Amino acid sequence: MISRRFFMAAGGLTLSIPRAFAQSDKYHFTLGVASGSPRSDGIVLWTRLAPDPLRGGGMPPGKTNVRYRLCADQAMRKAVREGIVETSDAKAHSVHVVLRGLEPGREYWYQFFYGHDESPIGRTRTSNASASGAKLALASCQAYEAGLFTAYADMAAWSPDCVIHIGDYIYEGAATAPGPRKANVGGFDVSWENIRSHNGPETVTLWDYRNRYALYKSEAALQAAHAAAPWIVSVDDHEIDNNWAGDIPQDPWAQTPLEFKVRKLAALQAYYEHMPLEEPPTVSGVDSYLQLYGTYRFGPAQVHMLDTRQFRSDQVCGPRDPGERSCEDLADPTRTMTGAAQERWLIDELRRSQAPFNVVASQTWFAPFRYNGPGDVPYVNMDQWDGYPVQRQRLIDVMAGITNPVVLSGDWHSAAAMRIHKDPWDPKSPRVAHNFCGTSISSHCPWYEAMRAAKDFNGHVDYLNGAQRGYLRFDVTGKTWRSDYRVVANPRDPGSAVSTDVSLDTRDV
Ligand code: FE
Ligand code: CA
Repeated sequence: MISRRFFMAAGGLTLSIPRAFAQSDKYHFTLGVASGSPRSDGIVLWTRLAPDPLRGGGMPPGKTNVRYRLCADQAMRKAVREGIVETSDAKAHSVHVVLRGLEPGREYWYQFFYGHDESPIGRTRTSNASASGAKLALASCQAYEAGLFTAYADMAAWSPDCVIHIGDYIYEGAATAPGPRKANVGGFDVSWENIRSHNGPETVTLWDYRNRYALYKSEAALQAAHAAAPWIVSVDDHEIDNNWAGDIPQDPWAQTPLEFKVRKLAALQAYYEHMPLEEPPTVSGVDSYLQLYGTYRFGPAQVHMLDTRQFRSDQVCGPRDPGERSCEDLADPTRTMTGAAQERWLIDELRRSQAPFNVVASQTWFAPFRYNGPGDVPYVNMDQWDGYPVQRQRLIDVMAGITNPVVLSGDWHSAAAMRIHKDPWDPKSPRVAHNFCGTSISSHCPWYEAMRAAKDFNGHVDYLNGAQRGYLRFDVTGKTWRSDYRVVANPRDPGSAVSTDVSLDTRDV
């Protein structure tokens, strides 16, 4: 549960307190509420009826109706929209209300009703292209076993215009016992500790994925962050399977192509059922596709959310690195993170944009990072943009012609601030863009010692911190971009202090 202290800290924000998850036998709104995909005239509202959230939801099969209200005031007196929406077991009794015709850049509050149950009240906000500033938060990587989602309590209190979640909202792994772990990572003996266990085996079926989302959403701080602001979301790998690419799983020798397509369909369906998305997956036989990439505008910042998994070419250099294709394929210009259509869309949007800041929200790191010293061929992470250097160079060349490009990344559980240079491996070549990377909400970073040791071989890296959990805040005006790296003092304390480790202005780096 959210502590009383958190609600005091939240100041102007009033959220009704969800009932304790553990006592939720009959209560239907155990997973909270959310809003997302903010437009200047609309928003998507979300909830799910789940009286028994960890065992399929607990609703009887068939259809039922849920009532909602959207109000112009926090006290929920002035209704702007009211209605009844149908849901059913076909979508795990999730509710998506796509609202249009609202006013730009203003706050709304919303609530759902079912039988005698009232949901928590959520706060949301439509976007506004002509606003003078924007407050954006960036989150990724919330391994449940690794730690508490304390960072989200601080994010909810900040009340941003929008939360950008770039993936690893869940992890697919089987339950493991809590306790200390040790390993040698890149030549360094490191240790870490898991504090709690997943529910059930590695997620494969729709049942598994639904119960896994319910487990993650059981934490009050995550529910509070959803109830505090609209989110835009995209998947990375762990929403489906570690390091997957298109129709290729991480371990093609262990899952047939058909098995993986069926699994992906289940994972994308469950993702839709738990997110404030406009559209369900498109399904044709066992082929499925979920629309996740898109353009959003928040005052001076135009945000392009990428989808770097569904259309990705396979990784190179063999299973350890982690693809099936040969290292020579690194130079193949047709290999992409995005597929050709998404790349064309991105380039068109960037070139057309009139915004003072142009944001590309990627899942993985865009700037390079080598783990070995100069002289040898760089040893890099082939799952990140380092594994797709030809497409990266094409995008850098486009970014060189647009106003203030800023790339946001997650995935690697280490915060970083990096310069993207015209030649990304040469920090003496002109600076084209910035790459701000968030640390994880809770996931461990066992490779941080190896990264720290290699930092000096990466002259474009201005800041690196994989030792702490947290998230990123961005304060954008027409002329300035400030990144605040928020870190959690004690990730085992749900009421822990959260502070700014470092504040960077794009004019300074
Ligand atoms: Fe992750
Ligand atoms: Ca990832």
